[in-house]
Amino acid sequence: RLLSFGDSQICKYAVVTVATIGCGKTTTSLALANLFPNIIGHIQNDNIRRPVGNKLVAGALEILINRPIVILDKNDHKFIERKQIFDDFDQLNEVIPTSKLKFICLNFLRNRPQEDKDLWNITRERILERGDNHQTIKAAGKGITKAEKIIQGFIKRFQPVDPGREPDSKFDLIINLDVTSPDSSYANVKTVVDNLISFASDLNLTRPTEEQFQEAFKSALDYKPSVNKIVHSKGGPRAPAYFGIVIPNAEELQNKVVKLIHSTGLDWKTYETLKNTDRLLNDLHVTIIHYKSRKTNGESRALWNMYVKQVFFDDLTKIDENSPKIKGCSIPLPSSPTADIKLEKLCSNDKLVCIKVSVLGLYHADGREIHLTAGNKFPHVTLGTISSEIKSVESNNLLNDICEFHATNGIQCLDFEDSEENTLKGLPIFAYY
Ligand code: GDP
Ligand code: MG
Repeated sequence: RLLSFGDSQICKYAVVTVATIGCGKTTTSLALANLFPNIIGHIQNDNIRRPVGNKLVAGALEILINRPIVILDKNDHKFIERKQIFDDFDQLNEVIPTSKLKFICLNFLRNRPQEDKDLWNITRERILERGDNHQTIKAAGKGITKAEKIIQGFIKRFQPVDPGREPDSKFDLIINLDVTSPDSSYANVKTVVDNLISFASDLNLTRPTEEQFQEAFKSALDYKPSVNKIVHSKGGPRAPAYFGIVIPNAEELQNKVVKLIHSTGLDWKTYETLKNTDRLLNDLHVTIIHYKSRKTNGESRALWNMYVKQVFFDDLTKIDENSPKIKGCSIPLPSSPTADIKLEKLCSNDKLVCIKVSVLGLYHADGREIHLTAGNKFPHVTLGTISSEIKSVESNNLLNDICEFHATNGIQCLDFEDSEENTLKGLPIFAYY
């Protein structure tokens, strides 16, 4: 069955959503699948067990065996997420000839600035109204701020579709949608159908009647997910995976790095590669201490426990009800502790680029110092790694080679100037789950 694909003249269409939470991705997708049950398949990222990895694309390819169109329902709000989708198709697709595989973007948020009040209000309202009818984001009852934080995070990180650059230039068709009108999803379903009718002309789609549109939309709005993913352990608040310091302005830091590199006139190949392959991270942080470090020796265990007690569990009673139960989220600590750091050294090998930093001090919200040393031997900011196989923790190995063994082979280092400009103060501390 697989091998016969080449004989068929029809194309296969991968429809990729670009949106933030609550834009109506799932509602729109379900309505489309209701309208064309044998033609359009739908796979939801939220229904896939973590770690998701390439399972979304693998599942989409499976659907494409029997249907010509699949919607990959995921936020894909950043370039790197879109790039990953294309990369995963490249890697996993062994059946569909590249010339027959078309990518369509459902662009829910054309020209949306990050401070867009309408977008924030409407998606926030919809999510709060959706309540607990979602696999992971539970918004009913008191846990509202948690859901709000998650929505806000997505809006903040959102990178609009830019057809002039990769990865978005790879879309064969971009369908612009709207989310701010009260019944936006209904209009969006129609827009998508009309676009599919003309773009996927090989499928000879018939335009549904008004009644069919309404029926399909109504049952999509009534949808309640059947999968209830358990992403947290039972019982009270769980320990975070690590504590970290947020670098609030990643772009500014990248500019400092570029300036430093330019000042030497030397080539920084790995940094260039990261820039050109869109692998410079947008969310930067310094890990202060990792949960796993408890296991290395008694001292580390004691330090972790002190962190939990002083930095985190002071908040235990407050955090209980609203405690984040979502894996893979960074949550600012309710007591708002901060850190001051100093940029020390830009370091790179052929796998990654990082900045060695020193933690000058940790402070409670009222300014009292938290008398704890960093649990990480070489505190640092990883700027990016050359592939997803290389994890950020490898920065530790690089810095160990440089600082302990004075290694130089294949390694580049540059000192930051000891100046006010390279001292970052009052950075928020977060817990990562
Ligand atoms: P997603 O997170 O992008 O998948 O958003 P959903 O499709 O789950 O929509 C979020 C909530 O808004 C759900 O409760 C939907 O039923 C509701 N919703 C989606 N589209 C519309 C719409 O056009 N009008 C109204 N009133 N509600 C909508
Ligand atoms: Mg959804």
